[in-house]
Amino acid sequence: MQTPVDTLLIVLQIVSLVLTLLMGVTAWQTRLRRGAVLWVAGFATGAVSQWLKLGVAARWGHAAGLPFGHLGGPVGYGLLYVGVRRYLRLPARVDWVVGGCIVAALASAAAVWHGMTYVSLAMTATITAAFQALTAATFRDMHGNGMARSVAIAIFALSATESLTRAVAIAVAWEDGMPPAHVNLIWLLAYIAMAILQAGALMFLVNQTLVDDLQNLADYDPLTGLLNRRGMDRRFQRERRNANASTRMGMLCMDLDHFKAINDRYGHGVGDDVLRQFGQRIRDHSRPLDTPVRQGGEEFCLIVEAESEAELVALAERHRESVEYLPFATRAGPMQITVSIGAALAAGAHESLESLCERADQSLLAAKREGRNRVVLATANPAP
Ligand code: GH3
Ligand code: MG
Ligand code: MG
Repeated sequence: MQTPVDTLLIVLQIVSLVLTLLMGVTAWQTRLRRGAVLWVAGFATGAVSQWLKLGVAARWGHAAGLPFGHLGGPVGYGLLYVGVRRYLRLPARVDWVVGGCIVAALASAAAVWHGMTYVSLAMTATITAAFQALTAATFRDMHGNGMARSVAIAIFALSATESLTRAVAIAVAWEDGMPPAHVNLIWLLAYIAMAILQAGALMFLVNQTLVDDLQNLADYDPLTGLLNRRGMDRRFQRERRNANASTRMGMLCMDLDHFKAINDRYGHGVGDDVLRQFGQRIRDHSRPLDTPVRQGGEEFCLIVEAESEAELVALAERHRESVEYLPFATRAGPMQITVSIGAALAAGAHESLESLCERADQSLLAAKREGRNRVVLATANPAP
C-alpha cells in the first residue's frame, strides 16, 4: 500500500532530479572553477539512492533496501560539502566525508540487521546534519560575496538544524513506542524544502562569484595586477565615506622617463617587464592604506592619505628613489630607469578626485619640463 511517506519519497526523487538538472546548468556556467560538478552528483544522489533502495528491496526484501535510501543523505551532503570546499579553493577533506559515509553505512546496516530501521534513519540523519553544518561553517570562513555568503550560511545552518531535529524526533518517537513514520512525514517534507533552498543558495553564490570575477576583470590591470582607472574611481567612491578627517587625500602621478626609448630599442616584451616591476615596486613601497593604480600606459598613480605637503613629498621621494637606485631586471638585462612624479594634496574633503588628478598631472608635466627624475608638488590649492 502507498503510504504518505512513500508519496513524499517519490516527490523527493522528482525534486532531486529537477535540482540535478538546474545544478548541471549552474556547473556548466561556472565550469572554470572546480567543485560544482560534485553539487550535481550530490543532488542526483537523492534520486539515485531511492532507486537503489527500491531495486534492492524488490530483490532482497524491504529491510535490505532501507540502508540505501537512508545513505542518500550522508553521501549526497558529503559530495556537496567537498564540492563547496573545492569551489572555494579550500582543501577538499575527502577523507572526512569518506569516513563519515563508512560510519553511516556500517551503523545503518547494523541497525537494520537488528530490526531497528528508524535507528538507522536517525543515525544517518545525524551524519547528514554534520555535513550540512560543516558546509555552513565553510561558507562562514569564506571571504567576500556578501549577501550570497550570508544566505548560504543561513540555509545550510538551518538544514543542519532540520536534519538533527529530525534525527532526535525520530529517536524520541521510537523510544516512546510511537510510530515514527508519522513524525518522519513532516521532517521529510522539510528536508525536501531545504534541498530546494540549498540549490537556490548555491546558484545565487555562483551568480555572485561570476559578477565579482567580471568586476575584477573590469577593475584590475592584468599586466601589473594593480587597479585601473575605472577600479580607482569605484574604490574612491567607497573610501571617501570613510575618509579620516585629520588627514587629507594626496595623489602621486608617476610616469617613467623616456620609456618609449626602451620599447623602441628592446621591444615591447622588455617594456612590459619594466612595467610589471614598476607596479611591484610601487606596491612594495606603499603603506597599507595607499592605493596604487595603473592609469594607463606607463603612467601610474598612488592615492594616499597625508597630513602635510612635506609628508607627501617625502613619500614621493621614496618612490622616486626606489626606481632610480635599483636597476630593473629584464629579459635584455638590467635597466637603469628614472621616474618623474607630480604630487598634489587635496585642498580639503570637498576637492574631487578628478580635480586632484588634474593638479597632480600638471605637476608631473612640470617635473618633465624641469628635466625629469624629480618630484614636483602642486602648490596652488584651488579655492573651496
Ligand atoms: P617621457 O619621459 O616624456 O615620459 O617619455 P616617454 O617616452 O616615457 O613618454 P611617451 O608617453 O612618449 O611614451 C610612452 C610609451 O609607453 C609609448 C607606448 O608605446 C608605451 N606603452 C604604453 N603602454 C604600454 C604597455 O602596456 N607595454 C609597453 N611595453 N609599452 C607601453
Ligand atoms: Mg614616460
Ligand atoms: Mg607617458
